[in-house]
Amino acid sequence: MPDSSASLSPWIPAEASAFIERHAARYDGMDLATLDAEAHRLIAAHEQLVDHDCINLYAGTNMPNPRGSALLGSTIGSRPNLGHPGAKYNKGMQHAEQLEVMLTTLLKRLFNARFAEHRVGSGSLANLYAYMATCRPGDAIMAFSDAAAGHPTHHAIGAAGLYGLKVHDVPFDTARMDVDADALRDAAKRIRPKLIIVAGSMCLFPYNLAAVRSVADEVGAYVLYDAAHMGGLIAGGCFQQPLAEGADLMTGSTYKSFGGPPSGMILTNSAELAERLDRIAFPGLTANFDLGRTAAMIIAVMDLLEFGPAYARTCIANAQALAVALDAAGVAVFRPTGRDQFTMSQHVALNAIPYGGGNAASARIEPANILFTSIGLPLPEVTDDANGIRIGTQEITRWGFAAMDMDEIAGLIARVLVKNEAPQNVKGDVIALRRLFQKLHYIREA
Ligand SMILES: *Cc1c(COP(=O)(O)O)cnc(C)c1O
Repeated sequence: MPDSSASLSPWIPAEASAFIERHAARYDGMDLATLDAEAHRLIAAHEQLVDHDCINLYAGTNMPNPRGSALLGSTIGSRPNLGHPGAKYNKGMQHAEQLEVMLTTLLKRLFNARFAEHRVGSGSLANLYAYMATCRPGDAIMAFSDAAAGHPTHHAIGAAGLYGLKVHDVPFDTARMDVDADALRDAAKRIRPKLIIVAGSMCLFPYNLAAVRSVADEVGAYVLYDAAHMGGLIAGGCFQQPLAEGADLMTGSTYKSFGGPPSGMILTNSAELAERLDRIAFPGLTANFDLGRTAAMIIAVMDLLEFGPAYARTCIANAQALAVALDAAGVAVFRPTGRDQFTMSQHVALNAIPYGGGNAASARIEPANILFTSIGLPLPEVTDDANGIRIGTQEITRWGFAAMDMDEIAGLIARVLVKNEAPQNVKGDVIALRRLFQKLHYIREA
């Protein structure tokens, strides 16, 4: 038998290698009945921890509507379905293929867009589709840098680089956490990008898309708005509206603020781009795709059509209240020098320097059942760690937390980060608070 241990994978971090080696050895020795029981036990334990016992402030997650999740288990997802609805190669699809039309129709309604592409496995793949629709390998593009929370898929290590694009930074005004429009104009005239990408993995404030559009027009570039994080708030009408403000394409993940199953989406008003995306989706990069996810997406879009505005408003109100409460509790909340607010979105950023770095702080608070992660901020660097912490309120909003509850959450965070209480001592109070919020809000019931 091949050795499944990590010694075969020297490129993996040592910590991960040790973990994989230890568990691979256990599973190698287990009989099938034990493995079966163990797989189910792990899922149940995970759901209890993350869905019920944690205050999950991770910026890129959410709790989907269980009625949508149930549809993910339908056999419809295992059935091949090649080609356009109404002209399928596979037979017996006359019911299933209508779901594709339903989702496309609802997505267009939700985002007020002329075209929607849903046959995209993830937000990352949505970005690859967008690159393929607008650029050729070797072309230059411009994207947010790491310090502006640009995403790996925008960069050399991700889809952009793998597709052969040359990536340049979008100049960023860190005082306002927005695009530096004048510097962008100068740089774009020099670089002649085919595509300018706006937004990344933390969006505290809306971006000056009108300025980006006008620069793009001057140099003949397309504009892509990456709404991976902002999809739910854009749908709720409480954040900027990328297509109306000049983006040619809007890509998105569907499991972050959007609150749906893990998938991807692309919206555009351009028939030319829609045609290219259609061919990229099929026969380009998908043959069959998971219609169970299509069905789960329909549920998620209907949730947003009915509750999107109230949900999005509450996400933002909670983030603003949490930022103020954290600040009052002595936590180092990040506020750009050119703004009089901490945030206008569901995101809150913390300066992680007083806490030894964002990864260190996230690891320190995890045993208290409070979940968040690091991010790069325009602050001095921390050796071997990120200088920021990123928080999102979309999941706690779905669990019914309101602005008046943010003092309590801030107090629990401060006990670990500021007062240096042992996280294990805080965990009981976190679970007790979390237990009061076990019903999902802003979702349609049967
Ligand atoms: C999360 C994220 C993605 C990737 O989305 P997946 O659906 O996880 O592949 C792309 N862009 C940005 C800005 C993101 O934050």
